[in-house]
Amino acid sequence: MKVLHEGKVKRVLSDPNSPNHIILEFTDIVTAGDGEKKETIGGKGKLACETSDILFTFLESKGIKTHFDKRFDENQLRCKKVKIFPVEVVCRNVAAGSFCRRYDIERGEIFSPPIVEFFLKDDKLHDPLITRNAAVVMGLVTHEELAFMENVTRSVNYYLCQLFKQVDLSLIDFKLEFGRTDEGQILVADEISGDTMRLWTLTGESIDKDLFREASGDLIEAYATLVEHLKKATPKEIPIKKERIRVIVMPKQGLKNPPGEVTRKALTRLGFESVNDVRVGKVYDIELSHPITSEILEHLRAMNLKLLSNPVAEEAKVGLLVWE
Ligand code: UDP
Repeated sequence: MKVLHEGKVKRVLSDPNSPNHIILEFTDIVTAGDGEKKETIGGKGKLACETSDILFTFLESKGIKTHFDKRFDENQLRCKKVKIFPVEVVCRNVAAGSFCRRYDIERGEIFSPPIVEFFLKDDKLHDPLITRNAAVVMGLVTHEELAFMENVTRSVNYYLCQLFKQVDLSLIDFKLEFGRTDEGQILVADEISGDTMRLWTLTGESIDKDLFREASGDLIEAYATLVEHLKKATPKEIPIKKERIRVIVMPKQGLKNPPGEVTRKALTRLGFESVNDVRVGKVYDIELSHPITSEILEHLRAMNLKLLSNPVAEEAKVGLLVWE
């Protein structure tokens, strides 16, 4: 198998049987602090691979689209080939790590709703935080792609939190990467393991890479315990999270909008003289029975054209809402 990409702790190999798939190989290397701390710990690759296998399988069972296809070997996953977006998404339920350092806040503070942040994937720059606006203006992603990623990340957070709760673990934070297939499908990609999450036991002990970062415990023992815990969980019992999409339909600029004109006149009569123009549109809140996928957005575009809006006179914007 040809090596397509050599990462810090994983390798991407070509799939000899399919040009649309890759083999993701988990090595035993562990890094922290941008690779400043690096060690090889026997068995880590297999455990991170197994954790990712369990969690991707679980998320797929709840309707979240990921690049995962199947376990290929002890430390290899077969995955759909995607082009990874240059931004990664971090979701935080509880303050820890770089968030505490950045804002000088106490470790352990609970966030409700959870915080979602975007980081630029650039080792030379040490993966800095990036604003949505900068990521869009720099041409890295579109606003719609960011909204999609945030929405899916919040769904992933819901499902992972519920799963870990069943086995008495708290999901503190995690990082997700997203990729796009040649057909344009956006999928959760990379790995989800103790290397990319923080998990605490009921007594506040870490069961993740912080044990390595802080040299405070046995990483392999923790990762093996995590896998054991996950095998005891009962994913079927976790209820489906309601998802919501908002479609805003507005009259096209330049076209007359009589309801807007009536409202403008009424506001002027009430003394709001600074109101220059009012345009009235429609909002559709659509509830879905499973997480948002690229296909749903495509369907929605078709739905817009067929039903929700009149493409001659109106323009429709699809917005993704968080259901809290
Ligand atoms: N994370 C990751 N890869 C990165 C940066 C962060 O997997 O390149 C994960 C990390 O394991 C933690 C979460 O994202 O679960 C938030 O990490 P944080 O921003 O606090 O950074 P750190 O403390 O790891 O420097």
